[in-house]
Amino acid sequence: MKVILTKKDIYKGNLILINPDNLLKNATDVNELEEYNETFNNILYNKNANKYLQFVLSEISAGNKIVPVSGYRTLKEQEKIFNDSLIESGEEFTRKYVALPNASEHQTGLAIDLGLNQGEIDFIRPSFPHNGVCENFRKIAIKYGFIERYKKEKESITKISAEEWHFRFVGYPHSEFIENNNICLEEYIDLLKKEKLIYKDYEISYIPYLDKEIELELNSHDYISGNNIDGFILTRKIENEID
Ligand SMILES: [Zn+2]
Repeated sequence: MKVILTKKDIYKGNLILINPDNLLKNATDVNELEEYNETFNNILYNKNANKYLQFVLSEISAGNKIVPVSGYRTLKEQEKIFNDSLIESGEEFTRKYVALPNASEHQTGLAIDLGLNQGEIDFIRPSFPHNGVCENFRKIAIKYGFIERYKKEKESITKISAEEWHFRFVGYPHSEFIENNNICLEEYIDLLKKEKLIYKDYEISYIPYLDKEIELELNSHDYISGNNIDGFILTRKIENEID
């Protein structure tokens, strides 16, 4: 299949980097979203990410022990959360835990905050501890495209305090590579610009956008995403020869 990539495609896909230096450029297409499930039908989430998330939850028999706390947010909703937090919790807390409008991954539909279902659940900082069912979730989730996006040791890079509850869908094998190499999404996007990766059955390469459209031949298992900065990341499944 032939695809033509133009400048606007830089800002779409599972691997877009969203942070204060790389703001969300395009409003998310609501057709890409669906209700989390029948119970939590007020929480919208990316359809493809939700498919994998629900699979992971069933794999670990999470039942109702893990609940969604916050999924997709519109720009207006993010502004409201930011401003409400400023009033209720002050500037220091807000800058640590709430992303600025258009710097929030929640606006992409690819991020979800999950909470352990026990008593009252804090909306900004739900509990998602490093043990029990939550830790089982982390272990399996990296095999299906999810990363714990904001870790303590990466605070100086992400500029967001550790958020044990915030998971970002980036797709497999990226999730597993990021976790196994103990890097954050910022470092991963940087690394790809320097070198092509071969990981498991995948070849992952960066394609810069040089102000003219790019024509690309994709195989059925290939995936192309913008990086939300200056180019694309091609994930190519290495096809093994069949005798
Ligand atoms: Zn979050």
